[in-house]
Amino acid sequence: MVQKTNIENLINASVLNNPTFREDINESKFYNIPMDVIRNAENNLYNKKIRSIAYFSMEFGLAPSVYNTYESQTNISEVNKKRDFEIFSNMKQMDYYHLVHVHKLVDMPIYSGGLGVLAGDTLKSSADLKLPMIGIGILWNKGYFDQKFCFHFGQIPGEFSWDPATYPGLIKLNNTIDIEIGDNSVNFYLWKYYVPSFDKKHVVPLLLLDSNHPANEPWAKELTGQLYNSTSVWWKIVQRKILGVGGIRALETLGYAIDLYHLNEGHAAFAFLEKAKGMSDADILGLTQKFAYTCHTPVEAGHDRLPISEMQKVFSPEEIEMAKKYGLDENPNLINLTILAMNASCHVNAVAKKHEEVTKIQFPSHEEKIRGITNGIHIPTWVSTTFENLFNEYNHIFVNWKENPEIFSNISKLQSDIVFRTKLWQAHKQNKKELITLLKQWMVKDDVFTIAWARRAAPYKRPSLVLQQTNKLIEIAKKYGPIQILFAGKAHPNDFVGSDNIKEILNIIDSLGKDRDYLKVLFLENYDTYIAKQLISGVDVWLNNPLPPFEASGTSGMKAILNGVLQLSTMDGWVVEAADKEIGEIFGYIPQQGMIGDENDLKMIEDSSSLYNKLEFMVRDYYNVENIQDEEKKHFSPWIDKMMNCIETSGFFNTSRMVTEYNKNIWHQKPIIN
Ligand SMILES: *Cc1c(COP(=O)(O)O)cnc(C)c1O
Repeated sequence: MVQKTNIENLINASVLNNPTFREDINESKFYNIPMDVIRNAENNLYNKKIRSIAYFSMEFGLAPSVYNTYESQTNISEVNKKRDFEIFSNMKQMDYYHLVHVHKLVDMPIYSGGLGVLAGDTLKSSADLKLPMIGIGILWNKGYFDQKFCFHFGQIPGEFSWDPATYPGLIKLNNTIDIEIGDNSVNFYLWKYYVPSFDKKHVVPLLLLDSNHPANEPWAKELTGQLYNSTSVWWKIVQRKILGVGGIRALETLGYAIDLYHLNEGHAAFAFLEKAKGMSDADILGLTQKFAYTCHTPVEAGHDRLPISEMQKVFSPEEIEMAKKYGLDENPNLINLTILAMNASCHVNAVAKKHEEVTKIQFPSHEEKIRGITNGIHIPTWVSTTFENLFNEYNHIFVNWKENPEIFSNISKLQSDIVFRTKLWQAHKQNKKELITLLKQWMVKDDVFTIAWARRAAPYKRPSLVLQQTNKLIEIAKKYGPIQILFAGKAHPNDFVGSDNIKEILNIIDSLGKDRDYLKVLFLENYDTYIAKQLISGVDVWLNNPLPPFEASGTSGMKAILNGVLQLSTMDGWVVEAADKEIGEIFGYIPQQGMIGDENDLKMIEDSSSLYNKLEFMVRDYYNVENIQDEEKKHFSPWIDKMMNCIETSGFFNTSRMVTEYNKNIWHQKPIIN
């Protein structure tokens, strides 16, 4: 029986490769998950009669530091602990004397931002919904990068180190595969990590490829080193070949019976070349029924265009012919992975309604098959403990909210319930206190209006927008009360404009030393899912100011509304669909219907002015709640109405709803019954 051997292999592999796991993994359990649950999930993926999905993604952000951490009997090794980090602020001396201390498992560093977190949340919700799925990705031995700030310079990217072999839950299998890179054959280890459902009754395995194999030459060992290493086009092509071609080979080597290949972004499009090899045209047409593709961005740099001359160094002539046939760009010297993925797939989806519109304008020849499925977030991952407790306390209203977040619409029943409203405000204040404890050396206060901007520092996201006219911020603060602004975010090391934005923010912060009684600004190093969770739940307002329509969806604001945090946002991405929900304020430029515009025309002055207008209302309204003594008035303030609208709205913007939509429109899977 293939199935049984498979589990025994898993146990043997884990114990042979790392005996410290002997306590955690055995015949009856895999950490705190019954081994039968794992066996069942694996068996379903081997069963040809059960429709199963392989979900390919270059990155996965699983956030095990904040959710479903595998508790090992063995201590976490030092190198796998989250590092203390620095802050750059206008409280200068604090920056010199203090670090932020964290004692936590480091997140598996195989993601860079929202794309990866979405992939992680997708696996988690698929596990919750008991779908037969396996994730395919890459074990990035050096993670993404380590960010250090340097005044006058911006961010300094360093190498990130961690140890997969002692990372709880990560198992190196005995199987290996090889992939030809030009004339060389490179060996890959395969690793497995089980993503459990919230109730631990199902798992989605994640399979990760790793070239750090002793049989490989030094250069080949580095191939799965750094995520999005873009020192050369060759490197970019090779990393995409590993994911696409290697992913298919890994699935075949392990014998999985996969019915549908889902490409999360064009990065994985070479999977199609691998499957199509040697097929007739008619068979290839049939093959496209087995592929689906999610397009995540309207931004130019997000679409890979690879020179054929470089691809020839990595792929065989047959593969190049196929790539030309299905993936030729307007420029005949380039292969366009977006085009390849679209041609390969019978289903193409954009990640919000507005993005559907934009994608159809950008790719008119594929218009018919493009559909919008709005992104979401995994509720059990992103709910703060205080809000989780509150929702559980009201579980007669929010029945099974983890499985069925739609139930948050019931919050309207609590509209005039003073006890609930009071508890909601207190829960929020508790979250704020926790965040502030982390930042206590900087004298951040829990009764001061606090707003955060935290995400990838990409130019279209306009990291420095709120700091364009700091005199206006100080005016608002003098009129209504002080303001605290928290920043976090990394720019891709090769994104010079994004890196410049970080430098610009550091410079502006430096100039605000004398204004610190009114305005405190802190920039936190090394944004990751752990910091994200503190920020999305611990601030009063979440700032989202991309240039419309370039934010395909955005997801961090969805994490914030789940925790009752109001939005201050431009009309872009998911927010367009929530514009009438009264979850905060919307400001700024709106492109004409049917127009995309120029992603480099950032409209900084106009949009920062309209940002301050709306911010002024929010600061005023916040202090109306914070400073009121009358309990009744305080808890019936419009601010708390908006917090309740936020929670209600998160009933839609979650991956439980999103995965259900994928399944209904694209995957057509049946949930597993244990
Ligand atoms: C959620 C998340 C993101 C995505 O943020 P956007 O709002 O989509 O830009 C990026 N990074 C981390 C660490 C996250 O948790």
